[in-house]
Amino acid sequence: MKIAHVTAEVVPWSKTGGLGDVAGALPKAQAREGAQVGVFAPFHREARHAAERHGLQLRPTGVGVRVHMGGADFTGTFLEHSWPDGSTTYLFDAPRFFDRHGLYVDENGRDYEDNGFRYAVFCQAVLQAARRLMGGVPDVFHAHDWQAALIPMYLRHAPVPTVLTIHNLAYQGVFHKGLLPAIGLDWSIFNAAQAEHYDRFGMLKGGIATADAVTTVSPNYAVEITTERFGHGLHHFIRNHARRLRGIINGVDEDDWSPRVDPHIASRYSSSHLDGKADCRASLQQEFGLQVNPGEPVLASISRFTHQKGIDLLADIAPRLEQLGAHLIILGTGDAALEDRLRWLDSRHQRLAVQVDFNVPLAHRITAGADMILMPSRFEPCGLNQMYGMAYGTIPVVHATGGLRDTVEHDVTGFLFEIDDAAGLWWALERAIERYRSQHWHYMMMEAMSRDFSWRGPADEYLNLYRELKSTF
Ligand code: ADP
Repeated sequence: MKIAHVTAEVVPWSKTGGLGDVAGALPKAQAREGAQVGVFAPFHREARHAAERHGLQLRPTGVGVRVHMGGADFTGTFLEHSWPDGSTTYLFDAPRFFDRHGLYVDENGRDYEDNGFRYAVFCQAVLQAARRLMGGVPDVFHAHDWQAALIPMYLRHAPVPTVLTIHNLAYQGVFHKGLLPAIGLDWSIFNAAQAEHYDRFGMLKGGIATADAVTTVSPNYAVEITTERFGHGLHHFIRNHARRLRGIINGVDEDDWSPRVDPHIASRYSSSHLDGKADCRASLQQEFGLQVNPGEPVLASISRFTHQKGIDLLADIAPRLEQLGAHLIILGTGDAALEDRLRWLDSRHQRLAVQVDFNVPLAHRITAGADMILMPSRFEPCGLNQMYGMAYGTIPVVHATGGLRDTVEHDVTGFLFEIDDAAGLWWALERAIERYRSQHWHYMMMEAMSRDFSWRGPADEYLNLYRELKSTF
């Protein structure tokens, strides 16, 4: 089976969140199952830096495209990198659109004005080149999030199955309707049942309406987004498409996130050799200058600073860490007001350590060295850090929402709280810390580390979905 994944982010080339991790790991798992897998992504400036940093070879494919859009022609070429597992990354090199400061935002954190247009050029380029690059028409195009949601729209009359995965319904790619003719779509798709969103052009919405199957990244989130609370204005629409929607949980890339092989951490370990975790913990404390007394846990959060992630709830409890008898490390970037608030709290509270940064090696060191990972997310399509935490014996304390509810078992592998406010978080932390001080903590770590969050199961579910679709074409 030939599978073409289309995504804006893919690890190790580019990443702003979980999408990059998933687009990096799922294709590898599918290639291991014997599929021919190509991953198409833009050659963002960040990807060029990643190639230099990791010494990754990028070969010119000799495949160039000319995309006619908005009355002009745009050219670009594809670079490729083949992985030992058999999958191939194809990066679309069009500097005019992708050799820029950030993936989606400029130096001032503002969205690029042409975001809709540049990902339309990318999607058209992929459709022009995929057959030549993959040695035949793919059996399925698997598009991820709004940036690739034009793939099912462009292919809606073509005899090729398409799958669209929603990684986060909060990001819908909504643009002025004038974009529609500019990117070669006709007005027939501009209606409330398809790509129209309150007189604007909703890319994700149009993709959901036209894809042959729609998935999202956990079974619980698939149900939640049919409700007003989690539907971001699309719940009625999603409900109409519920028959074509299924939730498939994300996995953990065990080559990247396993304490047995992790090159970033002070000492490697496993559930049968836990000494290494103590080393990681000690070196983390040293790195952050924490004075941790026996019996005091180190709590951690690694996250984008947005309203979604409930980082403000961590800020609310930070002044009371002494009362909890705990320390808290926060790594993240995002909302400027939250960054400032956390920096200010950091300067006043010894038990709090805040690092405003996007730093992957540090994320690994924190995951290994902390005792608990906190995720007070207001909504969470799947969430990866709770699974990384469990794999490293770092117990998750999470709001019972989305994929967090699907992956963390209360009182067994972690702690869940139902009400997403500071009191809810506090309730769960008190229970978690009480457990931490008991001999049962060790068993909880063992239980969490024994859970299988590998990509094998989810990768198979996607393959079965493609086969089902193919059989109906
Ligand atoms: P989302 O995609 O909503 O940001 P996920 O939990 O699905 O949330 O994935 C987040 C990914 O980004 C994880 O791999 C996490 O470790 C990583 N991450 C988030 N913030 C940072 C940061 N400041 N530094 C390094 N990695 C980060």
